[in-house]
Amino acid sequence: MIIMAEHAGFCFGVKRAVDAISEALKDYPQVWTIGLPIHNPQEVARLESLGLRVADNDSEIPDGAKVLIRAHGEPLEVIERLKARGIDVEDMTCPFVRKAQEKAAQLSREGYYVVLLGDRNHPEIRGILGHVSDKDSAEVVADEHEASQLQFRAKTALISQTTQREERLERIAGILVGKSSELRVCNTICKATAQRQEAARELVRNNQLDGVVLIGGKSSANTGKLRDILEAEGVNVLWVEDEKETDANSSWLTGKFMVGIAAGASTPEWLIDRVTQIIAAKQDLQGV
Ligand code: SF4
Repeated sequence: MIIMAEHAGFCFGVKRAVDAISEALKDYPQVWTIGLPIHNPQEVARLESLGLRVADNDSEIPDGAKVLIRAHGEPLEVIERLKARGIDVEDMTCPFVRKAQEKAAQLSREGYYVVLLGDRNHPEIRGILGHVSDKDSAEVVADEHEASQLQFRAKTALISQTTQREERLERIAGILVGKSSELRVCNTICKATAQRQEAARELVRNNQLDGVVLIGGKSSANTGKLRDILEAEGVNVLWVEDEKETDANSSWLTGKFMVGIAAGASTPEWLIDRVTQIIAAKQDLQGV
């Protein structure tokens, strides 16, 4: 028997951006993104076979190209540079990321010192920071220690990377209360990550599973987090990227009659379907 986690696979923002790329590729022989549109090599390969081109930065994009801004967003100056070159830009920044960008821009204009909670090397954080006009009035903090090092400010606004945990945002807010006369806290956390994590926990807790097949790119941080959660629940986990890897590890499925399936927010549905078919075929052979 196969039991799927209640929330698995593409989140709303990634699906929206990938669908827009697929649509654009019907009208244009090539469509460009800056950076990978998704942390899933199989989906990137599928899109590249249709004409997707991935640039490291905007200067690599040729004149006259069609560009889609991925769900993580980009700094304002990058989008403005592309438009100034007459490049056709379709902005598919996830609406939840957009909200964080707009809050950062607005509160900076209102004189708040903007503190961004997140990973300073993550493109989403670089994009949000890139919407604050006065770069000296904003800073990224990764954790409680960094927050505790901040100077006192009259007005501080705390904004979060969409994938942060609420508990951490609360703890950082608690630290900043003592470091400003006025503190604004914007909860810009998106529920998609937490939903997939909670669904993985419930999958294990609500079923007597022999193991869980976790589907997602090995470079996907959110899939890695799901693996940690599943293992912490004490279940045997097989992490695969695709059906070929599942087939190659089919001995893992031997004797496993109740198998759960979980997938990260960057795993497309077609990959989940293919892996599920391999598991079902193996179970048929075992007479499950
Ligand atoms: S995880 Fe949330 S914020 Fe990020 S792209 Fe998906 S829906 Fe948007």
